[in-house]
Amino acid sequence: MDCGPQTSVTSPLTGSKMATILKDSDGQQRTITSDWVVDASGEGRALLAEGASRQDPLVTGVGVEWLLQLPDGQASRWGDRLTFFLGSSWVQQGYGWIFPMAKNQLKVGVCRLIDPSRSQPPLTAELAKVLKASDLQTALVLDRHGGRIRSSVRRREPQQKGRLLGLGDVVSTANLLGGEGIRHALTSSRVLAPLLQEALQRPSQADPILAAYPRQLRQALGWRWSLSGRLARRTWLGLANAKADQRLERLLNGLQTKRAEDLSALLFDYRFERYGLKALPYLWTRS
Ligand SMILES: Cc1cc2nc3c(=O)[nH]c(=O)nc-3n(C[C@H](O)[C@H](O)[C@H](O)COP(=O)(O)OP(=O)(O)OC[C@H]3O[C@@H](n4cnc5c(N)ncnc54)[C@H](O)[C@@H]3O)c2cc1C
Repeated sequence: MDCGPQTSVTSPLTGSKMATILKDSDGQQRTITSDWVVDASGEGRALLAEGASRQDPLVTGVGVEWLLQLPDGQASRWGDRLTFFLGSSWVQQGYGWIFPMAKNQLKVGVCRLIDPSRSQPPLTAELAKVLKASDLQTALVLDRHGGRIRSSVRRREPQQKGRLLGLGDVVSTANLLGGEGIRHALTSSRVLAPLLQEALQRPSQADPILAAYPRQLRQALGWRWSLSGRLARRTWLGLANAKADQRLERLLNGLQTKRAEDLSALLFDYRFERYGLKALPYLWTRS
């Protein structure tokens, strides 16, 4: 278990400094003084806290993923492909996947959006269904991990409070459509780092320099990313019964594809303009 320092509080000092309190695993506290503080603590938002508003609350996704080791030859069926499990009979309000990780190793997982208005079956039960149907339930499990991903849909929360700045999941860069966020978090650090460096070099101009961060971040992540939260909520929260399954199937049939690569382009590269006019009611209807 990682018992690195835990950042608990940060507060402005008089003048232009910040004080951040770090708690070591043995309970010892240290205070760090700095010009700026960057909160990169992930979806827990340890310092910048919840900037989401009632109009644009945080939407939560949860996932579990197992790394499986298979005997020689048994992984070949999944060896060169990405497989999705779509439909509420597999995973209610989410989806499942299998993909090869290394020779004789597969990753199998399920994820879903949390719907506060209904009770959902446990994710582990959904994962068991995928494993059983894929004949993988007896494979050796090398690793199990899971967790939470949380983003606002419109992503309008503040990315800065005074000398405290946020990046990555802290400022809702994660993609709820595919449950992916590493490259988006990296993008936010690539945008923020030069601005912060410039602010340090020209302290009297720090405010206008850093004011460019939200705009530059949106530009770097692109317009597709901006729409993906809405599409995620609509797609996954709606996928709760047989009628919704049929609707999704019709949409995929309309696209004349069920190839995993095309779904991957939709979920991770947001290529939803391929839906054409069919996507418009899907994107713009309130869920
Ligand atoms: C089950 C699951 C599977 C996922 N799979 C993928 C995937 O395959 N590909 C992908 O791109 N994304 C995936 N994601 C999403 C991805 O993990 C996140 O979007 C991404 O890691 C966000 O990066 P980050 O740097 O903002 O935060 P994180 O990677 O969460 O890093 C935050 C760090 O801050 C530390 N921290 C938190 N609080 C404190 C504190 N108070 N003091 C000090 N340190 C603190 C944490 O320990 C952590 O090390 C998955 C998420 C889940 C839940």
